[in-house]
Amino acid sequence: MTQLQNLSQSFDVLVIGAGAAGLYTALCLPETLSVGLITKDTVSLSASDWAQGGIAAAMSPEDSPSLHLEDTIAAGAGLCDLEAVKFLAQKAPSCIQSLVDMGVAFDRQGEQLALTLEAAHSRRRVLHAADTTGKEVITTLTAQVLERKNISIIQQTLALSLWISPTGRCQGISLIYKNRVIWVRAKAVVLATGSGGQVFAHTTNPAVSTGDGVAMSWRSGAMLRDLEFVQFHPTALTIPGANSFLISEAVRGEGAHLVDDTGRRFAFDYHPKGELAPRDIVSRAIFTHLQKTATEPAKANVWLDLRSLPTDKIHHRFPNIIQVCKRWNIDIFSQPIPVAPAAHYWMGGIVTDLMNRTSLPGLYAVGETASTGVHGANRLASNSLLECIVFGAQMANLELEEVNFKEESSTESVFNLSASDWDSQQAVVATMRAQLPRLVWQSAGICREQKSLESGIAQIETWRKEFANLPLSQFLLNLSAGQIGIFDRETPQQQLYLWGETRNLLDIAYLILQSALFRTESRGGHYRQDYPHTDREWQVHTLVQANKVWRSQLLE
Ligand SMILES: Cc1cc2nc3c(=O)[nH]c(=O)nc-3n(C[C@H](O)[C@H](O)[C@H](O)COP(=O)(O)OP(=O)(O)OC[C@H]3O[C@@H](n4cnc5c(N)ncnc54)[C@H](O)[C@@H]3O)c2cc1C
Repeated sequence: MTQLQNLSQSFDVLVIGAGAAGLYTALCLPETLSVGLITKDTVSLSASDWAQGGIAAAMSPEDSPSLHLEDTIAAGAGLCDLEAVKFLAQKAPSCIQSLVDMGVAFDRQGEQLALTLEAAHSRRRVLHAADTTGKEVITTLTAQVLERKNISIIQQTLALSLWISPTGRCQGISLIYKNRVIWVRAKAVVLATGSGGQVFAHTTNPAVSTGDGVAMSWRSGAMLRDLEFVQFHPTALTIPGANSFLISEAVRGEGAHLVDDTGRRFAFDYHPKGELAPRDIVSRAIFTHLQKTATEPAKANVWLDLRSLPTDKIHHRFPNIIQVCKRWNIDIFSQPIPVAPAAHYWMGGIVTDLMNRTSLPGLYAVGETASTGVHGANRLASNSLLECIVFGAQMANLELEEVNFKEESSTESVFNLSASDWDSQQAVVATMRAQLPRLVWQSAGICREQKSLESGIAQIETWRKEFANLPLSQFLLNLSAGQIGIFDRETPQQQLYLWGETRNLLDIAYLILQSALFRTESRGGHYRQDYPHTDREWQVHTLVQANKVWRSQLLE
């Protein structure tokens, strides 16, 4: 892995994030370009690595890109961008082939790639590698990236802010690197920072999913879209300490039943497709059922019962789920798994076009942080890994504008604070970090309504002001572009990370709640108890830029 050699280093392209989107982007960029691939943790920690179920593509003779398109559009509840979905569905088979060519070992049935059925897909079209598809993809892509001479991987480095030139172009990024704030220039910056699931108290996402790319680009004036649309996965393991470990959709796809404490398959009370209805419907069914039947709904769970599935199928398809459940003393062959919904996928993000361009020159976004328009108001299962690959591949066509970086000598600024002031400041940040996700879960979770959204926004505004007044905030926010930030004592990197991530979480929480308050209807991953119906007048995107929230034109 690379160390930054000196602080004035520059790259042709900086890719922030080493999940499927970042790794594939880095691989597809022309090999003539110098690429810095930055990740705040190690390459092995990302949502991509945790993906279980698989990746969708119309590969079988009974299937076609147009059927894939139809299913994606139906799931997207009126807000998909037709051109983007067409592009995704048509490119899917060739992108899968390129993954196979790179060495991704998808499961096979005989010679053929094995395909499974997932909720809301009309055909068996989900490729998988047991129940660790993401790991298989990430391991292969990482090995390829390590071979590339033009790619420098820089781990344990947190991207803090975009570096915007006086003409409004993104010309690099500021980073927390080895307990310093440094600035690195690039002709293009690609954000591939993934999701913001950590803003919710219950999430299937890893700790790195703190919405950094969305927050950073918003602060620099990029246009964002549809931030209220969050997919809640119906079946996360509800054992304290298990971190809402995801029990894949594929388990229900293969025939497992969702039952309540009495053993009844209650999902059919809410939708004719029962447990195979779209995710938002199944999540809401569980939420509503628990509200009706449990004494403490917030702590209650339902059960996922695999006992009707053939034992060898469970062994073959779900080895990881068997292992994790075993760790929590659940034998899935003989016992149902306790599950409840958790925030899983964020449909909203930074507005991008088919070439991954954002509204800021020089800034691109790929993967979950982007809003390409393929998911609309609700993502079709297994389309997100695909989106990372299909849109990452577009970076092969990147045309860099020639930018001449002026050699400037950088100045340094030193932060002094007594140990006790450091500690009390950290305590304030840590408290916000702990309380914020609970607030967001209560006010912008599975079911939302005006009053709790408004009180949530008021609390977040108070926290944001308090946060901005902290001594560390004053220091970091007042560094001028290019100025290096130094700390007068050995500051653990974790403390700086906590500051950076909490700032981003406060910003995205604010934006999600504002967007959820703005949209007075229910659609896809946004459900308002006070406006429970879908309204034709709201078949529009919610657009956000700086402090403005507005509607796009009516979509056809
Ligand atoms: C448990 C789970 C199971 C899933 N299963 C499936 C599935 O079966 N099929 C499917 O299609 N989708 C699935 N998804 C969704 C899918 O995994 C994600 O949408 C997709 O992997 C996102 O990829 P990404 O590259 O955009 O982000 P990620 O894979 O999350 O990668 C983000 C990267 O950005 C880095 N990063 C973030 N912020 C910063 C910063 N400030 N500075 C530096 N680095 C930063 C992170 O460290 C990480 O390397 C699943 C998600 C989860 C959580």
